[in-house]
Amino acid sequence: MGTTYDAVIIGAGIGGLSCGTLLAKEGLRVLICEQALKPGGYCVNFMRNGFTFAPAVHYLNEFGPDGQMHEAFQILGLPPEIEFCPQDPQRRIITPHFHLTLSTDIDRFEGDLIRLFPKEELSIHAYIGEWKRLVKSIEGLPLKSLEVISLKERFQLLHKVIKVPQLLRYRGKTGQEVLDSFFKDPLLKYLLSFGARKGSSILHCASPIMWAIKGNVYYIKDKGVEALPQLFLRYYKAYGGEISFNTLVKKIVIEKGKARGVQIEGGEEIQSRYVISNGDGHATFHDLIGKHLLPDRFIRKLQKKEVSAPIFTVYLGVDLDLTQMGFDGALVHYYPAMSKNPWEEKNVEGFDIEKGKMAIRMDSIKNPMLAPMGTHTVAIAAFAPYELFTDGANINPHYTEIKEEMAQKIIGITERVIPGLSSHIMVRDASTPLTYERETLNMHGATMGWYLSAQEFSRIRSQKTPIANLYQAGHWTFPGGGIPMVIISGINAAKLVLKGMKKFTTQSCMGNMF
Ligand SMILES: Cc1cc2nc3c(=O)[nH]c(=O)nc-3n(C[C@H](O)[C@H](O)[C@H](O)COP(=O)(O)OP(=O)(O)OC[C@H]3O[C@@H](n4cnc5c(N)ncnc54)[C@H](O)[C@@H]3O)c2cc1C
Repeated sequence: MGTTYDAVIIGAGIGGLSCGTLLAKEGLRVLICEQALKPGGYCVNFMRNGFTFAPAVHYLNEFGPDGQMHEAFQILGLPPEIEFCPQDPQRRIITPHFHLTLSTDIDRFEGDLIRLFPKEELSIHAYIGEWKRLVKSIEGLPLKSLEVISLKERFQLLHKVIKVPQLLRYRGKTGQEVLDSFFKDPLLKYLLSFGARKGSSILHCASPIMWAIKGNVYYIKDKGVEALPQLFLRYYKAYGGEISFNTLVKKIVIEKGKARGVQIEGGEEIQSRYVISNGDGHATFHDLIGKHLLPDRFIRKLQKKEVSAPIFTVYLGVDLDLTQMGFDGALVHYYPAMSKNPWEEKNVEGFDIEKGKMAIRMDSIKNPMLAPMGTHTVAIAAFAPYELFTDGANINPHYTEIKEEMAQKIIGITERVIPGLSSHIMVRDASTPLTYERETLNMHGATMGWYLSAQEFSRIRSQKTPIANLYQAGHWTFPGGGIPMVIISGINAAKLVLKGMKKFTTQSCMGNMF
C-alpha cells in the first residue's frame, strides 16, 4: 500500500463496490479494505458438498428493462452481461386458512383476495387502486440524494413529488394506521402487513404489491447473486481500483475534524483524502471514530436508533423431486399460524417461531447449476431475535443446542409445505443472527441497516457525517436497504467525493494561477 489514496472505502459490500467502481472509473486512486476473503457482503453464495446456497440476497428489484438499475449500470460503466430473469409469480402465500399467489397479474390477485374476503370487496379495490396509481405516478422518478443535485434539479424533483398525492397522504403513516383505515378483517390486515413490524411505514407493507404491479422482481440466472459482486469487482479493477481482502479497518484517522485515512488491524495507517464507510452504522461511529470526536446531539440520535430485524436461515440439500411435487421455484411465504393482531411485538420472551412467517426458497428449481443432478436446494428463513442466541453481551452458553433446536423446529414446520422433507436431507447447515453478524460485521445480523420506522422512512437522510470528508455508502444510510438501494447509495457517495474533488482541483488550480 504506502501511497496516499483519493478515497479509501471500508467494506466491499455492493454499496462499497458501487462507490469504488464509479470513483475508479472517474480516474481516482481508490482502495477498498474488506475484512472478508471475498467481495459482496450479504450478496454472496457459499457451497456445502456440491450444493450452492445464498445466505441472504435472492431477489432483486429495479433490474428490469425500465428499472432504475439500467441507468445505474450505465453510470458505473458496467455492461449488461448478467441475465436478470423476472420472478413471476413473485411469491406463493400459504396459510392454514388459504393459498394465494402474488403475481404480476395484479387484477387476478385482487380477484382472489375478494373471493377470500368478500365483505371487504370495495376496500380491497380501493387499496390496490391506490398503489396502482402511486406506481404509475412515480415511474421514472430518480432516487438521487438531494446533496448531489443542483438547486434547479431539486425544484424539478419537488415539483414532480408534490404531484403524487399518495406520497404526501401516506408519508409518515404506519402500516397499522393505513390498514386499519381500509379494512376490518384481522386476517386480511395480517396478510397485507406482509410481515412488517409494528411502527413500520405503510410503504413497507405495500412494497410487494407495488413490485407485483410493476413486475419488478428478478433473480439471476445460473450462478445466482454472486455474479453481481464478481461483475463489480472485475470492472472496478479494470478501471484501476485496488482492493485488499482480509483487511479489517480498526480506526478512521481524523485530524482537525477531517477524515485523513484509516488504520487497519496490525496498526498500519493508510492515508487518503476521503473515507467512505460501507460498514455497520453503529460501529462506524462508536468503534472506528469514538464518541469523543462526535457532536453530543449526533451521538444521542444514534443511541435512539434500532437495527432492522435479524434472520435465522436453515439450508438443506435434498434428494426430492420438488418440480414433480408441484413447486415451480417461486418464493413460498408460509404462515404456520395467523394471529388476530399482526402488530404483536415479537420480543425474545414471547418468541415463537410458529407465530412468524417463513420464507421458503427452492432456488435450484430455476437455477439447476446450484445442486447436483436429481437434487435440490431448500433455504428456509424466519425472523429470530438476536438476544435468543446471546447471554447479555456474550454468546449464549447453550448456543449450539438453541441453534439445533430452532433448525429442527423449522424443518418440522416446513414439512407441512414439503411433505417428507426431513427424511430426504443430504446436506444441512444454518445461520443464526450471530453468523450473519460474524460474516459481515452488521450489528446483530441486521438485514437492512437501521430499522426505518414510518417516521424515519419519511425523513430526508444524509450520507454526509459530522466528520468532513467521511461519507457513508450502503444500507446504513440513504436511501436504505436492499441491493438497488445500496447501489444508488454507492453512486451518491461517489458523487459527493467527486463534487469535493472538483472543489479541491479548482482551488489548487487557482493556487497555481496566482
Ligand atoms: C437474510 C437476508 C436476506 C436478504 N434478502 C435480500 C433480497 O432478497 N434482496 C435484496 O435486495 N436485499 C436483501 N437483503 C438486504 C441486502 O442484503 C442488504 O441491504 C445489502 O446487501 C447491504 O449491502 P451493503 O453494501 O450496504 O453492506 P453489506 O452487504 O453488509 O457489506 C458490508 C461489507 O463491509 C465489510 N466490513 C464491515 N466493516 C468492516 C471493517 N471494519 N473493515 C473492513 N471491512 C468491513 C463487511 O465484511 C462486508 O463485506 C437481505 C439481507 C439479509 C440479511
